[in-house]
Amino acid sequence: MASAKEQLSAYLKAKKMRQTPERTEILDFIYSQSSIVDVEDIYNAMHDRFHVCLPTIYSTLDILQKCNLVTKHTFNSKTVCYSKVVSGIGHYFRICLQCGTYKEFTDLKLDKSVSIRTFSAFTVFHHSLYLYGMCKKCSSKTKKKIIIVR
Ligand SMILES: [Zn+2]
Repeated sequence: MASAKEQLSAYLKAKKMRQTPERTEILDFIYSQSSIVDVEDIYNAMHDRFHVCLPTIYSTLDILQKCNLVTKHTFNSKTVCYSKVVSGIGHYFRICLQCGTYKEFTDLKLDKSVSIRTFSAFTVFHHSLYLYGMCKKCSSKTKKKIIIVR
């Protein structure tokens, strides 16, 4: 299987796009992280070594998504994050509808279930799951409000 850099290189070559050090560096940064990153994380990691601007980061992230190398996660209207694509390993999140906080978790059983699931007319490249609910903090605040009202 081709490495992430080889996949990116092949895509850029096929689309007749330039292979810039910035694009490779953004890919390297995302793949060096164990969890999700946002545009600010990428900018902060790169701005001291490269003259990189936000449009470059966004356009690179767009390319990386088209190559199936990066997954975009939108948790609410303001929060967008990115993660590397690892074959057979999903990205699972719990998202509080009250305060908007989100936490990533791992689930080997879900990974296994998805990896053995086949479809006759569909190939799975990667997967994510979002569980929406209420965090413990918001839950306890809600309970306190109910007690006060009574
Ligand atoms: Zn909450």
